[in-house]
Amino acid sequence: MTEPRYRRVLLKLSGEALMGDKGFGIDPRVVERIAAEIVEAHQLGVQVGVVVGGGNIFRGVKVAAEGGDRTTGDYLGMLATVMNGLAVRSAVERHGIRARVFSAVAMPVVCSTFTQRDARKAFEDGAVVIFVGGTGNPFFTTDSGAALRAAEMGCGAIFKGTQVDGVYSADPKKDPTATRYETLTHQEVLARGLQVMDAAAIALARDNGIPVIVFSIHEAGAFVEVLAGRGRSTTISD
Ligand code: UDP
Repeated sequence: MTEPRYRRVLLKLSGEALMGDKGFGIDPRVVERIAAEIVEAHQLGVQVGVVVGGGNIFRGVKVAAEGGDRTTGDYLGMLATVMNGLAVRSAVERHGIRARVFSAVAMPVVCSTFTQRDARKAFEDGAVVIFVGGTGNPFFTTDSGAALRAAEMGCGAIFKGTQVDGVYSADPKKDPTATRYETLTHQEVLARGLQVMDAAAIALARDNGIPVIVFSIHEAGAFVEVLAGRGRSTTISD
């Protein structure tokens, strides 16, 4: 990569991305590989923020579907994102790069409490900045957390790592005729109900003029490739 296209970006990592082939929890080898890619991007001069999900451990909707209290379930989900974020921090720091974890839910013994000023300062000080706790509110998702933090931090784009290398016209794992979109607008994603990020996240990205670049988190090296404008992805912008 010659000149990075973005000065500061937000990588959205789902909990499932950290799970690897396991049915639950964190696969340390996968976390290590993804951390190495974050470090590579950082060393190319891109300020990398990461919003970490928690679906590999807990999801509030699942609790509610089983008759439990949704709000409690959502707090369990937010706590799960903290566990994942700490794992990512350790893996990044093993490369000798500083990483800071900011949580939307205060737990000062474990990590820093999110404030816009402190998190911006962490970027300026050269750290990889990891955001956990989603938005800090039940009934939201970490996708919305990603759009929110990207807007607050002035990120040039959201890189959404998914199971496949972009947004398809149908599920490519089930439908062989499915084709990948090169580009879409935020409005098209919303109008066609495409399953990229939840509608609140896409609307927030649209309203703040933030492109969303969807790529495969499972493909080794894809993050840096896509950052450089190469590789397979779908760009959602207006
Ligand atoms: N969550 C929440 N508010 C937020 C972010 C997350 O309540 O702002 C909860 C919610 O229960 C969600 C869980 O945390 O299911 C894990 O987050 P998410 O499903 O977004 O994780 P991912 O799918 O990215 O792994």
